[in-house]
Amino acid sequence: MSHFKAPPKKSLGQHFLTDRGYIDKIVLAVDPQSGDRLVEIGPGQGAITLPLLRKHGELTAIEFDRDLITPLMASAEGVGRLTIIHKDVLSVDFGKLAAGEPVRLVGNLPYNLSSPILFHALEHAEVIRDMVFMLQKEVVDRMAAGPGSKVYGRLSVMLQAYCTVTPLFVVPPGAFRPPPKVDSAVVRMVPLPAEKRLVRDPQRFAAVVRAAFGQRRKTLRNALNGVCTVEQLEAAGLRPDLRAEQVEVAAFIRLANLEDGN
Ligand code: SAM
Repeated sequence: MSHFKAPPKKSLGQHFLTDRGYIDKIVLAVDPQSGDRLVEIGPGQGAITLPLLRKHGELTAIEFDRDLITPLMASAEGVGRLTIIHKDVLSVDFGKLAAGEPVRLVGNLPYNLSSPILFHALEHAEVIRDMVFMLQKEVVDRMAAGPGSKVYGRLSVMLQAYCTVTPLFVVPPGAFRPPPKVDSAVVRMVPLPAEKRLVRDPQRFAAVVRAAFGQRRKTLRNALNGVCTVEQLEAAGLRPDLRAEQVEVAAFIRLANLEDGN
């Protein structure tokens, strides 16, 4: 008998995964190893939580919806050691949670919050071993896109400067209850090792990327007016008449890393 009585809440992006085949594929993608510290964002009714617990014995989950906490704890009884943090994930300090041991993040994310959650995770990249997330397929396409693609943009550059981004598989609406309107996809992100994280000043980098893509159709010279000089563009090896969508991640990093006056 199910412990869950409350109907799904649209405002919290509640689309519960019910298709056993896709649940198994996600668990296989995570492939927990002994000693891993698994942290799940938005466990919901436990679709991924319980199989992971069964395999791994231990897991911490962050869930904002009070109505789900007691039934989820009841479902986990006898399955494994489940710790639930009843909070908005955006207010969780992954550094504190990790306490010196990098965490592996897993989650079928609430789609209305997917970008804020990705940016929040990036801020803690040094304590995250990897992330396996389900998101809208359209967002995963943007995360993984490269220069020249129509969907290459701020999200692609911001994530790829700090992580490798690997789309894994697509999940159709029918795999969820209630079904979302769009296709979903599972993606793996692995923060780059320290020697490959080349951004010197994350705030400056974010400002350059935001300005460059803020006006996609403008040339870099115009879009970055007031943010970077033409001399800086040239010092970074960039022609001022290029548009942001043609510029690779490494070049954005070179540009943002230049000191004032080059
Ligand atoms: N993991 C479950 C599954 O696959 O069936 C549920 C996924 S559902 C798409 C998203 C979950 O995130 C819901 O359980 C929702 O309550 C939770 N959630 C929404 N906003 C949240 C927030 N700000 N912090 C933590 N959890 C949140």
